[in-house]
Amino acid sequence: MKACSTMQLPTYDDVIAAAARIEGHAHRTPVLQSATAQARWGAQFFFKCENFQRMGAFKFRGAFNALSKFDAAQRKAGAIAFSSGNHAQAVALSARMLGMPAVIVMPQDAPAAKLAATRGYGAEVVLYDRFTEDREALTQRLAAERGMTLVPPYDHPDVIAGQGTAAKELFEETGALDRLYICLGGGGLTSGSALAARALAPKCKVYGVEPEAGDDGLQSLRAGRIVRIATPKTIADGAQTQYLGEYTFGIIRRDVDDILTVSDAQLVEAMRFFAERMKMVVEPTGCLSFAGACKALEEKPPAKGERIGIIVSGGNVDLARYAELLAAR
Ligand SMILES: *Cc1c(COP(=O)(O)O)cnc(C)c1O
Repeated sequence: MKACSTMQLPTYDDVIAAAARIEGHAHRTPVLQSATAQARWGAQFFFKCENFQRMGAFKFRGAFNALSKFDAAQRKAGAIAFSSGNHAQAVALSARMLGMPAVIVMPQDAPAAKLAATRGYGAEVVLYDRFTEDREALTQRLAAERGMTLVPPYDHPDVIAGQGTAAKELFEETGALDRLYICLGGGGLTSGSALAARALAPKCKVYGVEPEAGDDGLQSLRAGRIVRIATPKTIADGAQTQYLGEYTFGIIRRDVDDILTVSDAQLVEAMRFFAERMKMVVEPTGCLSFAGACKALEEKPPAKGERIGIIVSGGNVDLARYAELLAAR
């Protein structure tokens, strides 16, 4: 564990540099509004729709930024990551676009659709047994053998800076906002967004939202140190992280106002709202931010004319699973 005093946290300047690197490669995703949401909640919402990002989630931003910074030797050997979710596809696609090899370490029992999607982006998938093998050790060994550079899903300055570009684009489009809600797993998106918020809208309240069952972020903020939990049971599979990172926690404790939690039922409500009212497929994890905002507004109605930013983080969900979740009442 690195000591905080020697750890150089990324800054908003790094977000600006990341924005220049991803320009023309990542989509500048739309910012949508909803009259229904405004009528129902009494606040003006600005939804930054990363469900429309390349490969369907904001993770492309951080991965592309990190891989863009590789030197010639790193590019030749390529990138390696372990993930069964959106980070896998983000690294695979970024590597293909930058013309370098990629290895993704995934569990044998990962959904077939995810394996296929990752291979579809041209990555080599290495499978491991979740019950008998240590994926970090396996990944480290492969990285050493092949000289590949490991790209972590959230706790890396280049990844954090890349994720921060979504909020940067949002504020550039909307001007200052009163509050910003962000989906929180390991904290890459939340910490990057907080860097952008502090620079572009210093008075904006910044909230990370995590699943009730996986409230390690909230516990960490309260305790003032990184608290580790067992893998939480929640439909928000992108936020089943057990702990925040050193970098992400360093930024979150400094720049984030608070962390909220929502139940799986509240996530499904938000998912239904997006489908019914905004005609958008949003994955359960991508619903955290809006579900958190709705919960906060129910507890305390907004002041007149409040303007609220919502980062909708992704839209990758198995359609059979999606239908099942929406059908259950
Ligand atoms: C990874 C992910 C998150 C959580 O992001 P962190 O940077 O780990 O906090 C949220 N939503 C989606 C769709 C994701 O893929």
